[in-house]
Amino acid sequence: MEQSFLIKPMLDESYPVIDYGKGVYLFDMEGKKYFDAASGAVTANIGHGVQEIIEAMNEQAKKVSFVYRSQFTSEAAERLANKIAEMTPGDLNWCFFVNSGSEATETAMKMAIQYWQEKGIQTKTKVLSRWVSYHGITLGALSMSGHPVRRARFTPLLEDFPAIHPPYCYRCPYKLEAPSCGYLCAQELESAINRIGADKIAAFIAEPVIGAAGGAIAPPKDYFKVIKEICEDHNILFIADEVMTGFGRTGTMLACEQWGIVPDIVALGKGMGAGYAPIAAALASEKVMEPILAGTKSVMSGHTLSANPQSCAVSLAVLEYLEKNEIMKEVECKGVYLRNQLEKLKNQFTFIGDVRGKGLLLGLEFVGDRDRKTPFPRKTMITQKIISIAKEKGLLIYPAGAGIDGVNGDSIIISPPLTITKREIEELALLLKESLEALSAHLNDDDRE
Ligand code: PMP
Repeated sequence: MEQSFLIKPMLDESYPVIDYGKGVYLFDMEGKKYFDAASGAVTANIGHGVQEIIEAMNEQAKKVSFVYRSQFTSEAAERLANKIAEMTPGDLNWCFFVNSGSEATETAMKMAIQYWQEKGIQTKTKVLSRWVSYHGITLGALSMSGHPVRRARFTPLLEDFPAIHPPYCYRCPYKLEAPSCGYLCAQELESAINRIGADKIAAFIAEPVIGAAGGAIAPPKDYFKVIKEICEDHNILFIADEVMTGFGRTGTMLACEQWGIVPDIVALGKGMGAGYAPIAAALASEKVMEPILAGTKSVMSGHTLSANPQSCAVSLAVLEYLEKNEIMKEVECKGVYLRNQLEKLKNQFTFIGDVRGKGLLLGLEFVGDRDRKTPFPRKTMITQKIISIAKEKGLLIYPAGAGIDGVNGDSIIISPPLTITKREIEELALLLKESLEALSAHLNDDDRE
């Protein structure tokens, strides 16, 4: 390609031009094949090039691609909202469409604040969160994100919302084990509420499985039960950021269902359009919408392209595809198979400290010394190394870690399309093994300390 004026990310010097995608594979203009083992950024949940989605998009385009949300609704938006209400647990019946995960968490935050305002309480404006978390790149979403690296340049503009430790059992700050630990990391929420004052807190937000900031950190069994109880006891709404986990990633429509929890508000994104269109949403329960509908009558937020018919038609087609092919049902089984392959790699490579995750959202954490769980020194750039070695070999994986105190900056996420087959899981594992072997050959003692 000739000189380009596209602003590129700094992640990687190799930045190929992609030509097309098919299933779990992407092909660049030079004909090189890539195994998309991360679904891009945990987004291409049904793989690339699915004809049904493209047809649904075309059908909608033939009718109308855009209507302005404050003038019209569309059949696609109505049907999608109803389908999501039907497929989600509890009475999460209300759906506000936006275009990205960051907009979804921002909207969720505003909904929570508005809820209390409509009830006549003006002081509840904080949305507490956890230190190892990522809720989006816009300023409100970043205020809620416990991600020091992404916050760093904008600190003066951000609120200090992260308040408690995450359920990061591999590096438990209390050096305890679940469930005998009594979920002290969840109990911290109660102390934080007492310190800050429940009268100032609108909501608590958490990712069911910590993604970009932690590398697929799934909580122990009763963690979210404890969190939900504390929220209820103190009149604080619970927001689940399911941008990465929603739409079947862990085997259920929402990951919260895995632990029997129904949030008050949910943020959805990524898998909602599965990469075929930009679409995201904030869902609200009847309890949250009741005072809003009785008061202002609508959520005080919105974007020009909210509920865009084209994107809604795509998302509806994605949901129908998931349903028709019974894809969610197989996620758990595929996840276990993939995880077993990752465990085998852990046996082979001593620099893999932890294998974790839920469903098809899995992660590996790298350590310089496995027994002491010592992270690699920053200078080694271990995550960047493995990402570029794998890409060279035609395997795409996703870097994770917030770089907090240098201890959780070294993880990757493996999150292939949910449509992956058993043979493809084996191919993924083989490519990863070859990449890790190449990494191993590359590392010397100096890199570990
Ligand atoms: N929340 C979570 C849990 C995410 O993983 C992400 C994206 N990595 C976001 C919010 C932000 O989504 P987007 O990049 O679409 O704005």
